[in-house]
Amino acid sequence: MRIGIIGGGASGMILASKLTNHDVTLIERNNKLGKKLLLTGNGKCNFTNMCFDDLNTIFNNDFAINLYKKYDNLSFMNFFKEIGIVPKIETHKNIQYVYPNSNKSIDVYYCLLDKIKSNNVKIEYNSYVKSIKIGSCFNVILDDGRVLKYDRIVLATGGQSYKHTGSDGTGYRLAISLGHNIKTTSPGLTSLKFDFANRKIKFSGKCRINATLNYIDSNNCFSEYGEIQFRDNIISGIPVLNLSSIIRRSTSDNKTKIIRLDFSKSFIECYNNCFSIADKDIYEKSSISLDTKRELVSQLLFDRWQHTKYRHTKDFLCGFLPNEISEVLLNVSDLSNKNILDFKNNDFERLSENIISLELNLSDSMDFDDAQITLGGIDITQVDSNSLESKIVKGLYFTGEVLDIDGICGGYNLQLAYSSASVVADNI
Ligand SMILES: Cc1cc2nc3c(=O)[nH]c(=O)nc-3n(C[C@H](O)[C@H](O)[C@H](O)COP(=O)(O)OP(=O)(O)OC[C@H]3O[C@@H](n4cnc5c(N)ncnc54)[C@H](O)[C@@H]3O)c2cc1C
Repeated sequence: MRIGIIGGGASGMILASKLTNHDVTLIERNNKLGKKLLLTGNGKCNFTNMCFDDLNTIFNNDFAINLYKKYDNLSFMNFFKEIGIVPKIETHKNIQYVYPNSNKSIDVYYCLLDKIKSNNVKIEYNSYVKSIKIGSCFNVILDDGRVLKYDRIVLATGGQSYKHTGSDGTGYRLAISLGHNIKTTSPGLTSLKFDFANRKIKFSGKCRINATLNYIDSNNCFSEYGEIQFRDNIISGIPVLNLSSIIRRSTSDNKTKIIRLDFSKSFIECYNNCFSIADKDIYEKSSISLDTKRELVSQLLFDRWQHTKYRHTKDFLCGFLPNEISEVLLNVSDLSNKNILDFKNNDFERLSENIISLELNLSDSMDFDDAQITLGGIDITQVDSNSLESKIVKGLYFTGEVLDIDGICGGYNLQLAYSSASVVADNI
């Protein structure tokens, strides 16, 4: 049987490496496969995760959940082991991310490529699929005029984020031309732009810091602790990327979106570790009330002030928080221009309040060029969930991000690329 896989990204490569005993061609517009795969996990390729407790939070719909249940993380790790990639689990903040032991996405790329070659898959590089016509077979028409003929075709063209990697949304146009609907697409897992609520403060420079990100609107309640990165009024980091997809999907009519950053966890932990204060462990108790937290942070600030009031006001938080954030916290607490020796109880209270709940207005999320994934895609009601074959065109299959399926940050999207490719490999 002649099988044409359109798109040599993560899901197309995995599928081609699983298809043996067929006449398979991988059609890729670029001069190399897997350009996006090489960028994943900052070049380390976070390909799956060991934490799949709450599938409803991880994936956007039951269709994606069912794909995962058919081919889960252990299946993915075993498949990689078979082709030479030894999985390594790294735990950060209780989440267990899985990478190749070498920490290199390029190793994943070569293991897949060698397996694809050993399956005698033909690879058509620099071959941009312009249209597909159905006759006695599938006629795949390339922009250089060539027509390739197949008995089955798989659309593995990805979404429309990071389009310089090749996925520019043409897959959707191909699907529409074959009678499919597309669920509106938007950028997912993006950074967010912010300003300081009710304050004319500009954040310039860049820094990283651990914080709890809290967000509430009429439909969603989101709270995640992790590293937040700041760069000139743009925030990113895993909690921010995950929140961006929730906000994009939200039907809430809240015009102004406010997030609150809570820096107190590491603040209190640092003090607990260094000074063994009486309230050690209090923070760990999940029942800690906001009032207790306020009181504790105020008390720690006062304690800090007693030891360091010989310093300049601007340096009051120096050594605990990055300077850029300290400056903002002092500024929003109206302390920047106050002599440190004049600090009073209510000053510690205000500063404590902002350390626990620094308010940021979100102006907008970023565009597709900054998005790790695309939300939306081919309408899954038109696709058979057991085989991933189109319900409209027999012999046409879909894998990966071109479908309206996605997951949060942490290896869950490559997991979907694997799960969907495996289902298609079984059923084609
Ligand atoms: C910076 C970045 C980091 C990421 N990190 C992670 C991570 O650590 N873990 C994780 O799980 N996910 C991560 N992701 C998401 C993950 O990479 C994608 O979800 C995954 O690559 C989707 O696989 P795919 O096969 O569906 O699409 P892609 O990998 O996008 O592949 C689609 C392929 O189709 C080709 N193509 C498109 N149209 C045509 C056409 N008309 N003709 C011929 N070829 C065509 C493209 O050139 C491309 O090679 C990251 C994404 C980005 C951008």
